[in-house]
Amino acid sequence: MNLSKHLQHPVFRQVGALADERGQRAYAIGGFVRDILLGRPCKDIDIVTEGSGIELARATARAMHIRQVHVFKNFGTAMFRSHDHDIEFVGARKESYMRGSRKPIVEDGTLEDDQNRRDFTINAMAISLNADSYGKLVDPFGGLDDLARKWIRTPLDPDITYSDDPLRMLRAIRFATQLNFRIEEGSLEAIRRNAKRLDIISAERIHTELNKIIAAPLPSRGFKLLFKTRLLHQFFPEMVALHGVEWKQGIGHKDNFYHTLEVLDNVAAVSDNLWLRWAAIMHDIAKPPTKRFDPKAGWTFHGHEDRGARMVPKIFARLKLPMDAKMKYVQKLVLLHLRPIALTKEVVTDSAVRRLLFEAGDDIDDLMVLCRADITSKNEAKVERYLKNYDVVVIKLREVEEKDHIRNFQPPVSGEEIMETFGIPPSRPVGDIKNAIKEAILEGDIRNNPEEARALMLKLGRHLGLTPSSRP
Ligand code: ATP
Repeated sequence: MNLSKHLQHPVFRQVGALADERGQRAYAIGGFVRDILLGRPCKDIDIVTEGSGIELARATARAMHIRQVHVFKNFGTAMFRSHDHDIEFVGARKESYMRGSRKPIVEDGTLEDDQNRRDFTINAMAISLNADSYGKLVDPFGGLDDLARKWIRTPLDPDITYSDDPLRMLRAIRFATQLNFRIEEGSLEAIRRNAKRLDIISAERIHTELNKIIAAPLPSRGFKLLFKTRLLHQFFPEMVALHGVEWKQGIGHKDNFYHTLEVLDNVAAVSDNLWLRWAAIMHDIAKPPTKRFDPKAGWTFHGHEDRGARMVPKIFARLKLPMDAKMKYVQKLVLLHLRPIALTKEVVTDSAVRRLLFEAGDDIDDLMVLCRADITSKNEAKVERYLKNYDVVVIKLREVEEKDHIRNFQPPVSGEEIMETFGIPPSRPVGDIKNAIKEAILEGDIRNNPEEARALMLKLGRHLGLTPSSRP
């Protein structure tokens, strides 16, 4: 098969010519070859050469008038950017692994050695760049066939491939999820056998692959595979605990693992926001630890939203996910995920609506996406009814927001103004007055404007024995 028509970037001809001059073989390899065959856009080009990758990179950059070449001597690689692509050069290598580390012993090797060390047949294909065979596909393991039948398969014995570098187990599931491929049965069994080896992989590498699974169009596929292979048990036991149904006195509860996956897919169908997808994963995470059986009420999960919100930072810290505003956002959505249900009742006070707007702030729309996604009944009439209820909530939210502007609540009188008015230093009464004004607005006792807020401030000050100081 000749793929020269796919080699649009000028770097390919240039590398081929220079490699010929130097008597070296050079190839495009890996994800780039896979992606052109799948018709997916690919901005990363990997070039492998039998010889020095760094020298070939330098010579190519010179010929293409590219000044900046990043050289990583320790890894024997070099890269530069050209026409919006990252182009990375490496010398073909042979790898051998020691148990207990995913860092191999590396020696110079041939193309064949280099292909042998690749993770999957679909990632091990190369395209020749030398003039005598420009564009020729070099596919020793049947990667092309595996692309056609949508298979993830390792070039060598899967037990060796996965045990050498256990990250590949997560990569297998990540590719299966992103590409909607099947993992070949022998490979799947090998992952199950080697799952415990994941303990030598850092949390950062695990969450990078996990986030790619979560960002895929149907993330539930990946999680089902993670569960089935028991990889999930290695790094996310709280999610595993959601699995299963307990029965007492003939009463069962729903399987919260599959429910969570449905919610995740529902969110994924309408939003690419990774952290909103994380909120879906976490929304019921505290159901197992809060589960109780009450002979009258059946199964209950009281306080799971609150407990779940407290679990979020612990899980994020363990997985080395960001502990910044993104974590806070997930935490907030988990904490509030039941609140809009309370607003579906027929009689709802404006103050309840204002309080939710205040607490959710600008994340209110995302919260509503999560709540809609949380309706996973098999009964379509029920789903429709619940969704209609939320339409009513959205209208109420909009009406109250238009009237009271709570979403981006800024205190209508500042602490500065309170201090200046009463001539007092930063102190407890300042906070008390500010808080009482906020409460009065949320309760609807006064409207959200500076005039009414100032009048209340003066009244509260009087109660506290403060007198307005005369200003110069
Ligand atoms: P994507 O670009 O979607 O992240 P990719 O696998 O193409 O996926 P890289 O992770 O940069 O991108 O990997 C490039 C190539 O390097 C792969 O196609 C594969 O041939 C090889 N590779 C990457 N990681 C491993 C690994 N852990 N074990 C073996 N080969 C690997």
